[in-house]
Amino acid sequence: MSNYIVLVKQVPDVSQITDNAFDPETGTLVRSRLASVINELDAQALAFANKMRQDSGSTLSTTLKTGVLTAGGDKAGSTALTAGGKIIALSMGPPMAEEVLRYSLSRSADIVILLTDRALGGADTVATANPLALAIRKIVKEIFKEDNDYYVITGMQSVDGDTAQVPAQIAEELNLPCIAYVTDAEFKSNRFEFTRIISGGSQIVTAKKLPAVITVAKYEYPLFATFSRTRWANKSFDPAQDGTQVVRWTASDINATHIGVTGSKTSVIRVFPPGKSTRKCQQISDAESLAKILVESFKTCGELVESSGNGQTGKNGQAQAPQYVLPNKRASLFNRSFEGTKKEREDYEILSEKLKKLGITKTNQIDDAAKEKILEAAGEHFHKKALEDMIEGFKLTKPSFEGEVWVVAEHSDGVIHPSTFELQGRARELADSLETKVGVAIAGFNIEAMSKELIAAGADNIYIIEDKLLEVFDPTAHRKAIADAISTYWPQIVLYAATPQGRMLAPMVSYRVSCGLTADCTGLDIRDSSRKGDIGLLLQTRPALGGNVMATIRTKNSRSQMATARPGVMKRIPPDPSRKGKIIRHKVKLTEDDVNLEIIKTELGTGEVNFNADVIVSGGKGMQSRDNYEQLLSLLCDAMSKRLDTQVERGASRAAVEQGFIERVHQVGQTGTSIGPKLYVALGISGAIQHMIGVANTETIVAINSDPNAPIFKQCDYYIVGTVEDIVPKLVKELESR
Ligand SMILES: Cc1cc2nc3c(=O)[nH]c(=O)nc-3n(C[C@H](O)[C@H](O)[C@H](O)COP(=O)(O)OP(=O)(O)OC[C@H]3O[C@@H](n4cnc5c(N)ncnc54)[C@H](O)[C@@H]3O)c2cc1C
Repeated sequence: MSNYIVLVKQVPDVSQITDNAFDPETGTLVRSRLASVINELDAQALAFANKMRQDSGSTLSTTLKTGVLTAGGDKAGSTALTAGGKIIALSMGPPMAEEVLRYSLSRSADIVILLTDRALGGADTVATANPLALAIRKIVKEIFKEDNDYYVITGMQSVDGDTAQVPAQIAEELNLPCIAYVTDAEFKSNRFEFTRIISGGSQIVTAKKLPAVITVAKYEYPLFATFSRTRWANKSFDPAQDGTQVVRWTASDINATHIGVTGSKTSVIRVFPPGKSTRKCQQISDAESLAKILVESFKTCGELVESSGNGQTGKNGQAQAPQYVLPNKRASLFNRSFEGTKKEREDYEILSEKLKKLGITKTNQIDDAAKEKILEAAGEHFHKKALEDMIEGFKLTKPSFEGEVWVVAEHSDGVIHPSTFELQGRARELADSLETKVGVAIAGFNIEAMSKELIAAGADNIYIIEDKLLEVFDPTAHRKAIADAISTYWPQIVLYAATPQGRMLAPMVSYRVSCGLTADCTGLDIRDSSRKGDIGLLLQTRPALGGNVMATIRTKNSRSQMATARPGVMKRIPPDPSRKGKIIRHKVKLTEDDVNLEIIKTELGTGEVNFNADVIVSGGKGMQSRDNYEQLLSLLCDAMSKRLDTQVERGASRAAVEQGFIERVHQVGQTGTSIGPKLYVALGISGAIQHMIGVANTETIVAINSDPNAPIFKQCDYYIVGTVEDIVPKLVKELESR
């Protein structure tokens, strides 16, 4: 009879952002001005754990054993601490995070634990996963009495961090299997089989051993608080009552090894507002005008592509910073134009100008008298210690990290995932400016044939880790293989694709080799922090708080700098089949015990689709039914094809595929296909990040949605508010009438 530990987090409510939540000076979102709520996916995880408990019959057993109806029943009460089938909600946060525990207790938790301590604040994912993992160990020892029949259930990610790293890192610390992106669980033959999202489809898997960590990506059956449970929850938090259901621990109770700012392996160096989307976001009032726009946009598309200059600056608005040059390759050692922050850059500009005025061209000419003059002239810009540090910084020329720039390849059935080539494109630029090589680490079975393509795409060295046990992606086995290669060759940078697979593997590998990791980056640049003694650092820029702010992050206390990067943002370089590269075979000892998951069934898209078509029309869940999808898409695709004299292909959101509106091969997005047509028409699609990632390179995006606040309207060029049933037939009529 399994027990459940559900991780719940209090987060800012990013769904209710008002204008006064932004700092008028910096334009960034001020977190403290937002209301606090339970992270939605953690609330779903709580409901998921409750469903698992009910499906496996644990509630009944608990009831029989303890004589009281607990969670899942309508009468609340305490559970004997040694009985199975318990749900324990665990949260790490400030004292006010008690609210999410009250929420948990009033829904389904039997015991709630708050890990709260000032020393735990300011943590990155490593310094969050570590104390949570140690708290789990304490729960197992003291509450489960070393009974290892338990699951750790948690939301796939939190809306403030959006990293999805913590659960995988907890699994790594505790040496447990981790099943990520789960959407369903079925209790069969005395074990749970989990349905999870994978690239290109879905999969049913089970953990070969317990305990296991499960991350929930979607479970939309919320739990509601009953009157009796709410009263019981409130009573439990009443200091006058001796409630054993509420437990509070501090850092010293759990003996964590990495906590707070000091235990973190990354640090945020800059937070700034996201750049304005280059999309027009223009509302169109009627079908007639929209028909004209569709025709016009299609006609002028080619011109736009040429005049935009393409390069790294795409429709996704990712402006590319100037290419980094090592200090000893610059015209002067006093040139510090590649400092990581604006302040550092400005200070060095002032200093260089003063040195020029004093006629100083070498660092050994900067004597005490010169320093006095500089300080006098610089006024309040910097003080003596800062000046000393900056002068020391001039002496630095070698990068702080050593080694190659690596990409961890993702592949399936002998086909390399497009995101691997995109990462190689950026890795090539980073390696060239750091004057090092690009390495690609690839783990699997019968994989050598892919080396040619990887070399043509910019790699110098291919590190092949081959084993029959690596034939299918198993997070633990692949983690062991990649971590072993990294800790043998120590590349200075390791990049993974922010695909479901990459976002699972990267946190496990980075935790294993004790390195920092930044999730889902949209910008990767090399910069210096000369005055702090660092040259050639990888600055990792990513959206946070649901895309409402951008953060630039650097790695610290690590031998390698690691990041996952969002697919569709970096550009692959044109393949050059004449490129030469070296193949290095790396042997790792693997046994059956390293494979933690049993794959029961994999469902991938089959069939033909031409996503190279110039126009793609996609339908989402808003199409309501398979018939509606079929009828309205047929009408619109035919009319557009005739009017524009081009092939028009059908696409779909993941939700539409899951509703059975069309085959999976038509799915667009992070776990479907990334496309870049001239024209993309989205019908009844909300604009979730996982969908929009897949259309980032589209020239013109048009959306039809009945919700005036649909997020897609902020990410498209033209939109019309209305139902597809109303607008599509009118649009077809207009297209046919010209
Ligand atoms: C790991 C992971 C990977 C994922 N990968 C992908 C992926 O590759 N691709 C993908 O698409 N999603 C993916 N998703 C799912 C994604 O998060 C969203 O759930 C999904 O994109 C939503 O699809 P949708 O917009 O069709 O549905 P919904 O979000 O439900 O939106 C339906 C929209 O239709 C509108 N609507 C309703 N009725 C009408 C009507 N009559 N006329 C007009 N509009 C109407 C509504 O206003 C709403 O905006 C992934 C999720 C995870 C966790």
